[in-house]
Amino acid sequence: MGGDERGGKTSNKGLVFHENYLLHETGGHPERKERLMAILDYLGEESLLAQMELVEAREATFQEVALNHHPDYIEEVRRFCEGGGGYLDPDTVVCKDSYRAALWAVGGALAAVDAVLEGKFSSVFCAVRPPGHHALRSKAMGFCIFNNVAVAAHYARNKGVERVLIVDWDAHHGNGTQEAFYQDPSVFYFSTHQWPFYPGTGKAEERGEGPGLGYTLNCPLPPGSGDEEFFRVYDREFLPLARDYRPGLILVSAGYDGHELDPLSSLELTTRGYRGLADRVVQLAREVGASVVALLEGGYNLLTLAQSVATTIEALP
Ligand SMILES: [Zn+2]
Repeated sequence: MGGDERGGKTSNKGLVFHENYLLHETGGHPERKERLMAILDYLGEESLLAQMELVEAREATFQEVALNHHPDYIEEVRRFCEGGGGYLDPDTVVCKDSYRAALWAVGGALAAVDAVLEGKFSSVFCAVRPPGHHALRSKAMGFCIFNNVAVAAHYARNKGVERVLIVDWDAHHGNGTQEAFYQDPSVFYFSTHQWPFYPGTGKAEERGEGPGLGYTLNCPLPPGSGDEEFFRVYDREFLPLARDYRPGLILVSAGYDGHELDPLSSLELTTRGYRGLADRVVQLAREVGASVVALLEGGYNLLTLAQSVATTIEALP
């Protein structure tokens, strides 16, 4: 534990994990429970687990999930899973317990938001699954059932946070998160992602709409882009806008499938590069006095996933 006092709060890093995240069985799919087991094993080996405190996860309520999803869709997911599961979308396979795991993933994000807003933790990393950033209001997509980060942003807004910033460094564009806040200036969505690539959204011209115009920032990057290209985008395009925005809370859609050794993208970020992105987010958080909650999204090479999560946690305040 750091133990340094900051604004009267003791600095300590939280970790969200719950065994119910392993209930979402996906067979031979790349988004599998072994991802979380690899992360936990690695954090233990690196003695990082001992420096963190577990944030007590919980199950999200139906009403909480409905902050971002249509009630009919939530009910459809419940029925489909309880009927034995199958494919909710061509990429998204579920089992009978996946509905429950998805409620717990959302609940983990909400517990993390409470933990930082109540001042009990200076930052929290949520090792949750299923991931969330592709999930639309009424549709599962791209391994995602409920949009954990979007529900968390709505929840934080309801708790009185005036401006929430979502930083999405997953290799894919978070189309579900963008959709949720496209017309909403109270949640700023920033994404770097491979382009062209799944899911096909996230052009630089997509900048928000109506009152939300200017509060979505998409920085698509060509295949082969690595640390220096990402640092340039963060330093020149993102950070000046984010400082002006003065968010009260920063949520990170922390996906690690942009790693050079990850099988799912052609980006070339290194573990050091993820550290550089995390350092920039943490520096911003210090400047504006915001807390940071990071939520796992993608990342499918078990070793580089675990190493990149560890370096992110090291960077957190
Ligand atoms: Zn991804």
